[in-house]
Amino acid sequence: MSTFAERLSAIEEKIAAACARAGRSRDEVRLMAVSKTHPAEAIEEAVAAGVRLFGENRVQEFERKSESLTTVVRAGAVREGIAVHLIGHLQSNKTAKAAKLFSGVDTVDSLKVAERLSEAALALGAQLRVLVEIKLSDEAAKTGAGPDSEELRLLFERAADLKGIAVRGVMTVPPLDDNPETARACFRRLRELRDGWAQAYPRLSFDELSMGMSGDFEIGIEEGSTLVRIGTALFGKREYPAA
Ligand SMILES: *Cc1c(COP(=O)(O)O)cnc(C)c1O
Repeated sequence: MSTFAERLSAIEEKIAAACARAGRSRDEVRLMAVSKTHPAEAIEEAVAAGVRLFGENRVQEFERKSESLTTVVRAGAVREGIAVHLIGHLQSNKTAKAAKLFSGVDTVDSLKVAERLSEAALALGAQLRVLVEIKLSDEAAKTGAGPDSEELRLLFERAADLKGIAVRGVMTVPPLDDNPETARACFRRLRELRDGWAQAYPRLSFDELSMGMSGDFEIGIEEGSTLVRIGTALFGKREYPAA
């Protein structure tokens, strides 16, 4: 078994190579370590290896985990810029908790969730960074706002007035498919849509393009990703408790 640090450095090499292939600078792409299902100790180990940005899928899971993170990591969160973002679907009845636990929510997909998150953040005297999740596949299990939906139009029109959130860009999860070119087409489409939205909604920032996971992050980088979300390739296979 390799160590976390070895897996991290292998991924770092691949990120650097993909940036070079795409003629991009390495510092245009950030790495998010997706620690969902893994224990607090896995986060501690990643922090020790230099990781500063984490993704978690569930509000309650991270609430439990955050209680067992050592004070070193908790203090580091302020001192060294450690950030944890929610990358799983957020229900509107969990927005208050989410605003307290996370420094960013990367899966906002409705005006209602955006409004509630904004209110919750304002009540805490904070501002949350958010990404809007876009659904580009027909899979019923996928969440996100459709690129041509009325919901998305409303969200983009109103978001700039919600002072508790700051829209930074968009994210997507491509359809499940063994052919990597399916992911490429999806990433390319999101980048093109993003370019259009950046023109249409100049009060919002669309700088962040969160695309690419363990199996397709190099393709994501080639297609313009600024944030790759890597779980399995860093932490190993996830084990879900029997349902
Ligand atoms: C789980 C998850 C990831 C990480 O997936 P891996 O294939 O394990 O790298 C990335 N993004 C989202 C939204 C996820 O839910």
